[in-house]
Amino acid sequence: MPDESHFATAPELVPVPDDYAPYSRTSLKQYQERYRRSIEEPDAFWTEELRRLDWIKTPTEISNVNWDPDNLSIEWFADGVLNVSYNCIDRHLDQRGNDVALIWEGDNPGLHSAITYRQLHNHVCRMANELKKIGVTKGDRVTLYMPMIPEALYAMLACTRIGAVHSVVFGGFSPDSLAGRIKDCESEFVITADQGVRGNKPIPLKENVDRAIEIAGGVKAVLCVRHTGADIGWVEGRDFWHHELTLQVDANCPPEPMNAEDPLFILYTSGSTGKPKGVLHTTGGYLLWAAMTFDTVFEVERGEVFWCTADIGWVTGHTYLTYGPLANGVTTLVFEGIPTYPKADRFWEVCDKHKVNVLYTAPTALRALMREGDALVEAHDLSSLRLLGSVGEPINPEAWAWYHRVVGKGKCPIVDTWWQTETGGCMITPLPGAHDLKPGAASKPMYGIEPALVDGEGHFIEGEGELTGNLVIKRSWPGQMRTVYGDHKRFAETYFSTYRGLYFTGDGARRDADHYWWITGRVDDVLNVSGHRLGTAEIESALVEHVDVAEAAVVGYPHDIKGQGVYCYVTLNAGVEPTAEMEAELKAHVRKEIGPVATPDVIQFAPALPKTRSGKIMRRILRKIAENQLDALGDTSTLAEPGVVDDLVANRPQG
Ligand code: ATP
Ligand code: MG
Repeated sequence: MPDESHFATAPELVPVPDDYAPYSRTSLKQYQERYRRSIEEPDAFWTEELRRLDWIKTPTEISNVNWDPDNLSIEWFADGVLNVSYNCIDRHLDQRGNDVALIWEGDNPGLHSAITYRQLHNHVCRMANELKKIGVTKGDRVTLYMPMIPEALYAMLACTRIGAVHSVVFGGFSPDSLAGRIKDCESEFVITADQGVRGNKPIPLKENVDRAIEIAGGVKAVLCVRHTGADIGWVEGRDFWHHELTLQVDANCPPEPMNAEDPLFILYTSGSTGKPKGVLHTTGGYLLWAAMTFDTVFEVERGEVFWCTADIGWVTGHTYLTYGPLANGVTTLVFEGIPTYPKADRFWEVCDKHKVNVLYTAPTALRALMREGDALVEAHDLSSLRLLGSVGEPINPEAWAWYHRVVGKGKCPIVDTWWQTETGGCMITPLPGAHDLKPGAASKPMYGIEPALVDGEGHFIEGEGELTGNLVIKRSWPGQMRTVYGDHKRFAETYFSTYRGLYFTGDGARRDADHYWWITGRVDDVLNVSGHRLGTAEIESALVEHVDVAEAAVVGYPHDIKGQGVYCYVTLNAGVEPTAEMEAELKAHVRKEIGPVATPDVIQFAPALPKTRSGKIMRRILRKIAENQLDALGDTSTLAEPGVVDDLVANRPQG
C-alpha cells in the first residue's frame, strides 16, 4: 500500500484573501459586467479601451477580421496612428518624469541601478538616432541578441521609435539558431553586447553574432553595447560601438507616426512542438492588449515595483517586462542573472532588496526553487509582496500551494495566466480581487476573449457540468498575431484550418462546473489509453505531489492492448535515490488520484528532463524516446542542454 503521508496536496478552493482588499480594483460583479459588455457590445467596449493609449489619430474603425483560412486577414483599429515609444515614455514625462521606469539588478549582486522616465527618454532617443546613423529605416527588421541590461529595453523602444521591427533572439541561443532567425526575417541589422553574464559565467554574445553573420550573410551593420569590457573581434565598417555613437547623436528623436497595423515586432515561439514560428505582432492592437491586460491582471499602482522574471527573448519579456509596465507608467525590474546565483535564494533576496510588490514567474523556476527548501525563502523579508503570478506551463497544484504558502505567506493571490506568443497577452486568468482561486486552474477569460471546446471533428462541446476538449477561441482580440512572418499560409494552416473559422490554440482544456478553465496540456500530448483521453498535466501533477519528486513529464507510447501506454519520466529531489518502493508508491498514487486507466506503465527516473531555452519540458522528444524512435528526435536546436537527451536514451528501461 502506498504511504499517503509521502504526498502533499493543495486546497481545492482559496477564497480571495482579505489582505488583498486594499489593492483590489475589480470586484467579481464588475468583472462580470465588463466581460459581458466586451462580448455583447464589443465596439463600445473597445472604443472606451482605446483611451488607454495616446493616439496621433484616434481610430474610428474597431476591427475587420476574416478567419476563413483561404481569406485570412486580421485588422484592429486600422485607421489609427500612434507611436509605441511615445506611449511608453514621452506621455509620462510631465507627471512621472522623475519616477523610476526601470530598476536593473545585475548578475553580480553588487550591481544595480535605477533609470527614470526622463533618463529613459534620453537613452531611447539617442539609440534611435544611432540606429538611423547606421542605416536603419522604417520597416527594417533589427535582430536583438542582448543580455538582460537596460540597453536591451532601450534597443527595443528605439526600434519602435523609428518604426523598425525588432526580432529579439534569446541570448542563450547558439550561433546557428541566431543565424536561422536572422535569415528567416531577412534582418540586415543586429544589436548586441560584447558579452553577457549569467551565474558569473560570461556569454560570448558578440562572438556568436560574428559566427551567425558568417552563416546567415546579409547583415550590414552591428551595434554593440560595451557591457563586460572583454576583448572581442571587430569588423571595421560593419561594427559600431554604442558608447561611441551615442556621443555623436542628438538626444531628441521625434517618434515616427505609425499605422496601427504596421508591424511592431517578430518573435519566434519557443519551439516546444517543432520548428519555431516567426510570430508577427502589429502596433496598435498589441500595445492596447499589453497595456490593458497588464493593468487589469496586476493592478500595479504608481510607486510599486513589478518584477517579471522572464527574459526579453520570450513574449512574456515583451508584454509584461517591457511594454505593459511602461505603457502604464510604472516601475519594471530587469534582472540579468539566474535564480540560483550566488545562491538559490536570489529571487527572494531581490524581492527583499527592491521591495517588489508583484512577482511574475514560471512554474519551472518555482519547482526548481521549491526543491531547495523553505529556509532559503524564509531568510528574507517578503512582506512587500501582494500578488504572485505564474506563466508558461500548467502550474501543478503542489507548486501552487508552495508558492502561495511559503512565498506569499497565504496573503497573496496567485494569477495563473494562460496565454501564448501568438496571443500577445493574457487570455485566461483569474483577476486577483475578483475570483476565488482554484490551484492549477487558469480560471476565467480576459475581456473580449471567448474560449470554447471542440471535439476531434470540430463540433462544439457544450452544456453545463464538466466539459473536456480542444481549446479554441471564437473571435479575434486586439493582441492576436497577424501572420507568421513571410509565411501567411503556415499561419492559416497552423491556427485556422484544423477547425475552420476558429483559432486553434493547440492546447487541451477542461471547463469545470463553475466555468473555471483548466489547461490540461498540449493536444499533441493528450493520451488515449483504452479509449480514455487523459491530460498529461494531471498525471504529472499527481506524480509531483510525492515529497521526493521534483519534476515529472508524461507521454504516451504504443501499447498492444491499451492503444497507448503511460510513460512517466520522473526527476527526484537532490540527494534522493530511486527505489522500487517509490516506483510502486507513485503508480498507486496516480491510480488513486486519477483512476486505474491512468496507472503508469513505465517510470523512468531521470536526473534531468530536456527543456527549451525558456524552461519548458520538450515532450515531443520524450515521446520519441518512449516510442523508441531514437533516430527521429526532430528539431533539437532549441534544447537548453542536449546532453540530457543522451542520458535518457542510454538509461531507457528495456522492454
Ligand atoms: P511552440 O509554439 O514553438 O511549440 P510554445 O508553445 O512553448 O512553443 P509559447 O508561446 O512560449 O511557445 O508558449 C505557449 C504555450 O505555453 C501555451 O500554448 C501552453 O501550452 C503553455 N502555457 C502558457 N501559460 C500557461 C498556463 N498558465 N497554464 C498552462 N499552460 C500554459
Ligand atoms: Mg505554441
